[in-house]
Amino acid sequence: MSKNKNISYGKQWIFEEDFSAIEEVLRSPFLTTGPRAAEFEKSLCELTGAKNAIVCANGTAALHLACRALDVSDGDIGLTSPNTFLSSANCIEFCGGEVDFIDIDPETLCISPELLEQYCQTHKPPKVVIPVDFAGTPANLPEIKRIGDKYGFSIIEDAAHAIGSSYTHEGVEYQCGSCSHTDLAVFSFHPVKTITTGEGGAVLTNNDELARKVRLLRSHGMVRNMEIYDGKEGPWYYEMEEMGYNYRLTDFQCALGNAQLKHLEDFKKRRIKIANKYSKEFDKIESIVNPSFPNDASICPHLYVIQFTEGYQKRYDVYKALKNSNIFCQIHYIPVYWQPYYKNKYNYEKGKCPNAERYYERCLSIPLYPALSDEVVDYIINEIKKID
Ligand SMILES: *Cc1c(COP(=O)(O)O)cnc(C)c1O
Repeated sequence: MSKNKNISYGKQWIFEEDFSAIEEVLRSPFLTTGPRAAEFEKSLCELTGAKNAIVCANGTAALHLACRALDVSDGDIGLTSPNTFLSSANCIEFCGGEVDFIDIDPETLCISPELLEQYCQTHKPPKVVIPVDFAGTPANLPEIKRIGDKYGFSIIEDAAHAIGSSYTHEGVEYQCGSCSHTDLAVFSFHPVKTITTGEGGAVLTNNDELARKVRLLRSHGMVRNMEIYDGKEGPWYYEMEEMGYNYRLTDFQCALGNAQLKHLEDFKKRRIKIANKYSKEFDKIESIVNPSFPNDASICPHLYVIQFTEGYQKRYDVYKALKNSNIFCQIHYIPVYWQPYYKNKYNYEKGKCPNAERYYERCLSIPLYPALSDEVVDYIINEIKKID
C-alpha cells in the first residue's frame, strides 16, 4: 500500500464543505478582505479569548506587522529561540533591529526563561522577545512576562505551531494566542500547520492601539474615512499615515479558514491519538527519546519529534532509510544563527547555544497530521522499528 505513496511529515486536510465555502465567496462581490475576513477574525478571538485578531497574508507578515506595531526599529535588540523557522528572527531584521538568540530548555525545546533572565542581567535589555511555542508546546509565557515586566521588553508569542494548545498558570487555563502574558501573538495558516488557508496568518492582541496599528500597516498605512476627510480635498480623500504594506488576506482564503477552524477540535483529537500511539511504541525502543508533552498544558501536537540518543549518524541513517520507504521526515530546526546571513552579520559561532545544537543533531520529525490513516501510522512505526 503506502510503499508507492509519498508520506510527508505534515499535510493539510480539506473537506467538501470547505470547498463549498470557498466557492460561495468566488461567486460573491468580495474577493479580497471582506465579510469572511471579519468573520474569521471574530472566530479567532472566540477561540483564543484575545480581544483583537487581524488576519494577514502569511505568518511571516504577521510577525513583521507585530514588530512594526511595537515600533521595533534601527538598532533595537530582539531575542528569539534558535530552534525555530527563520521568520521568528527575520521579522526583527525587517525593521532594522538586531537579533540575538537565547538557548532552549532541553525539556520543552522552547526558549529558556532562566537563560533569558541571565541575558537581561548582563546585556542591554532587548526591545522585544519572541518566544516560539515549539511543536505545539507553549513556551513558559507567564515566566517570560515576569522577566519582561522587570526589564521592560515587549513580547510576541510565535504561536505558528500552537493553535488549539493551551497552558495552565495558577489554576487558570489560557489558550495559546490569548495574549494573556504577551503583547501580541501570531498564527500561520501554511498547509503544514494545524489549520490552513493556503498562505495566511493572523496577529492577535488585547491592546486596541496595537491592533489599530497592525490594521493600518496591513493595508499601506492608509486611512480612508470621513473622520479624516474633514473638508479636505473631497470625499475621495485618503491619507498615508505610516509606511505600510499590502499584507491582506483574500476573502476566499478567510472562508477556508473559517471552515478549517470548525475542524480544529477533531484535528486535535486525531493528532493526540497518533502521538499517543507513537509514544507507546517508541517507549520500547532504547535509542529513541519520545517528545515530552508537559502536564500543565493541553497540547495540540503540531510536530512529533523523536530524538536519537546515538546522535547525528544514527539520525542521518534513519532519515535516509525512511526516505527509501517513502516516508519523508523533516528536521526542525537547524539553529537559526548557523544560517550564513546571521553567521556573517553577527559572527555567531557554533557552540553559541549548546542545547539547541545538541537537540538539532538528534532530532527527527516523523509524519503527524490528522489525515494519516491508522494503516499508514502502523506502516511508519514498523519501518522505524526495522531500523533499530
Ligand atoms: C511556519 C512558521 C512561521 C512562518 O509562517 P508562514 O505562514 O510560512 O510565513 C513562523 N514561525 C514558525 C515557528 C513557523 O513554523
